Amino acid sequence: MPPADRLSEIRARIARAAALAQRDPAEITLIAVTKTRSPAEIEALIAAGQRDFGENRVQEAADKWPALKARHPGIRLHMIGRLQSNKAAQAADLFDSIHSLDRPSLLDALAAIPDPPGCFVQVNIGAEPQKGGVEIDALPEFLNQVRAAGLPLSGLMAIPPDGHQAGPYFALLAKLARRHGVSGLSMGMSGDFETAVMLGATHVRVGSALFDD
Ligand SMILES: *Cc1c(COP(=O)(O)O)cnc(C)c1O
Repeated sequence: MPPADRLSEIRARIARAAALAQRDPAEITLIAVTKTRSPAEIEALIAAGQRDFGENRVQEAADKWPALKARHPGIRLHMIGRLQSNKAAQAADLFDSIHSLDRPSLLDALAAIPDPPGCFVQVNIGAEPQKGGVEIDALPEFLNQVRAAGLPLSGLMAIPPDGHQAGPYFALLAKLARRHGVSGLSMGMSGDFETAVMLGATHVRVGSALFDD
């Protein structure tokens, strides 16, 4: 299936899930995750009207995106992978949004940058020892620190544990966002974005479902 058809199919699935949940599909941003994808593959999605893209490595984004952004004004680039504090300034130049703010050292590095991008706080929603993200118990204090530092807080982000149904974790993230007065919810990937939309996602991060392999 050509990339434009895959894209419109994903958009239709988002719209259907939104309608079922009595939500306006315009509230949901589809982020096309293009890590490991070539500029030619990305160009095909841009030609089909896609404007929000996600990458998980600063270096790869620095190699691919400045040229693409120069050719296509209006692109918004989202950092969705773990970010080293010493790359915060470079990331702030490249990206319009950071979805992986997950620790105080990174918070400090981002807060030191003039005009930092909007940030989603990543939550370790399944309490997995090996996974990034702020622990649920530490979230209130961390959000206080983000707000005190004046960082633009866009929302919460999470990746549910492998091998479990994602729905309960999405519902928990939505509950935490409500409790703490945070509006954005970055949740849902190729296998579960419709569930995420039904549970309140404002940003879904879809990679493999947009491509042929
Ligand atoms: C790769 C990645 C995605 C996209 O995953 P797919 O299953 O390919 O849709 C979403 N979020 C993050 C953080 C990722 O690293």
